[in-house]
Amino acid sequence: MLLGLALSACTATAPIAGPTPEAETGSAGAASPAATTAAPTATPTRTPSAPSPTTPLPTRIPKPEFDARDALADIDTLADEIGPREATSKNFDEAADLVERRFEKLGYEVDTEPVKVPAGNSWGTPVRAGTSRNVIADPRGFDDEEPHVVVVAHLDTVPVAPGAEDNASGISVLLELARMAVAVPPEIPVRFIAFGAEEPRGSGDALHHFGSQQHVDDLSEVQREAIQAVVALDRVGVRASYVPVCSARASGNDLRRDVRDAADEIDVPTRGCGGNTTSDHWSYAKAGIPAIRLGSIPYAGYHSPDDTPDVVDRRQLDRVGNVMWAWLQGQ
Ligand SMILES: [Zn+2]
Repeated sequence: MLLGLALSACTATAPIAGPTPEAETGSAGAASPAATTAAPTATPTRTPSAPSPTTPLPTRIPKPEFDARDALADIDTLADEIGPREATSKNFDEAADLVERRFEKLGYEVDTEPVKVPAGNSWGTPVRAGTSRNVIADPRGFDDEEPHVVVVAHLDTVPVAPGAEDNASGISVLLELARMAVAVPPEIPVRFIAFGAEEPRGSGDALHHFGSQQHVDDLSEVQREAIQAVVALDRVGVRASYVPVCSARASGNDLRRDVRDAADEIDVPTRGCGGNTTSDHWSYAKAGIPAIRLGSIPYAGYHSPDDTPDVVDRRQLDRVGNVMWAWLQGQ
């Protein structure tokens, strides 16, 4: 009786779980006597795996290209036009509104989460207690209890820095990826988050990454388990010949390896770096969620008024955008 139930369950799911016609051609004949019998009639109707020169190509999927010039334009807006974006400031609000509108225009379902932050000292400047904001963009029909990946970047800066590199660079790549993911949605849904209040308001882990920490704290066990991977984009435009792919622990992890493999496939050099806990991926990693960070190369204008758009290298933005897209496409 039990066996009968199991068999009927298998039969019922077989057509859905079965391989696609292309994938099947190599192994179908040897699978079972039934398959051998069926093969002669089934084979002629199947699409050959390699089209002959006269076969019209299938309609091309529109291939979105990462546009580093658009990313640089966003960096100019955030760093030059708006300026420093301390987590509770009017400038931060303006930047968050802008990101929110952009996501909405792209067709995402947008949510915001208020983030309360304490008074403190942010890189030498006293800061008041106040409220910052996370901006969350989900594709239509998104269910955060189903498997998905998360791409994040922080939107705030320390009070003195226009933050072109730290972290308008990460936000600009995030927005480009959000645009591309609408044009050609990756197989697994992607949630995009612009976090508020990443920058420290004192020393120690508890006074850092407020937006992402609160967000992760508020996730249920089911929601946490649904997250397959998190990538934080933080300082991703410093001129270099490689892309740093950083894990929070000293050793690498599967996600770090996957992203580096995706980069290899498009010939973008990467370097693994470990023990990096200074961005929003750390809030997820602490909760046991696979999370890494792209970016982190030191530069002279870090956390200073010199963090202006000229610090950001267009080719490096291109590399990071393309690595992310290659990885998302493989998900
Ligand atoms: Zn940063």
